[in-house]
Amino acid sequence: MTASAAGIAVLKKLLKDSERRQPPGVKDEIPFGRIPTDHMLVCDYSPKEGWRTPEIVPYGPFTFSPDAVVFHYGQQVFEGLKAYRCPHNPSDIFLFRPEENARRFFQSAEIMGMVPVPIELFLHAVRELVATDRNWILPHPGSLYIRPMLIPLDTGVSYRAAESYRFAVILSPAKAYFSKATGVNVYVERTRVRAVRGGVGEAKAGGNYGGSVAVLNKAKQLGADHVLWLDGVERRFVEEVGAMNVMFVYDDGSIATPQLSGSILHGVTRQSLVELMDHHNKPIRQVPLPIDQVLSDVKAGRIKEVFGCGTAAVVSPVRALLDQGEEYIVGQGTPGPVTLQLKAELESVQNGSGPDPLGWRTKIS
Ligand SMILES: *Cc1c(COP(=O)(O)O)cnc(C)c1O
Repeated sequence: MTASAAGIAVLKKLLKDSERRQPPGVKDEIPFGRIPTDHMLVCDYSPKEGWRTPEIVPYGPFTFSPDAVVFHYGQQVFEGLKAYRCPHNPSDIFLFRPEENARRFFQSAEIMGMVPVPIELFLHAVRELVATDRNWILPHPGSLYIRPMLIPLDTGVSYRAAESYRFAVILSPAKAYFSKATGVNVYVERTRVRAVRGGVGEAKAGGNYGGSVAVLNKAKQLGADHVLWLDGVERRFVEEVGAMNVMFVYDDGSIATPQLSGSILHGVTRQSLVELMDHHNKPIRQVPLPIDQVLSDVKAGRIKEVFGCGTAAVVSPVRALLDQGEEYIVGQGTPGPVTLQLKAELESVQNGSGPDPLGWRTKIS
């Protein structure tokens, strides 16, 4: 069966009803990103044929030979977004600003010298796959995590840009990841850096994660949950927290977040919070934030709340910063009112339970 919209046909080779698995429920344990749904979408590109017809097929492994360049040179990019079920009307399914993910996916591929996936193809693929496995979307505060990825298909271990690519999308039911009721602990890394200006930190590329794992391990040994990364030039300015952007709430109610420096990932959640604050005429500054100033402001109580923001946890309160053996507790060490308010507001836009003043929701039919 094929479905066509915006001129893009999707070939569907679906499981029979009797072959489909029972989606987990809210009471089940669901570690983030570990349970795939019944189907995935695959779409291959070659210079000769261009982008082939995308196919929705049963979820299953890819087969690659050991000299496939995907195993050797790190040309790989991905995206992360979610589908939400409306708490008031559970048959209503929404995506949140998927065009922003499509655009960033395109840019990430360009940064990594890959053939980018056309915006319309990305959007249509995501919509069709989510519609196919819609019964896997957990009710609020759960959702369905969507993971598009782009990998090379070429073989042979000579170093070069690949010519053929695979665009694939997989899905996974997601619960609410409010990691800990008290908030997360964040370790300030003073030596190693995640990304440099002029590098590939603005791409959502697997290599950026691979390069960060050793420091994450160190942070965990010290009792922290995430790494706070400093800029790659002076190791002085705050950049990101783990795989999230970061925001600081001051005692006058204003918010500051690091300005996009060339080595910070442009988060859709970050951008949406900036636009939401602007919409409410509340002050939010995008400025360079020196870590020593941040730590002394936390200590003096001028910074009252800190949170990470990203698709997976939406807004993740920070309990404490750990730096050079010292612990800087943020506020009372519990999630603050501004953090919780912004989280609730963004979630109500995402899942359709609240107004959508800036037109960010897309309904899936
Ligand atoms: C994905 C990601 C973010 C958050 O981006 P969202 O679009 O808000 O999910 C922040 N930092 C890094 C390094 C990321 O990979």
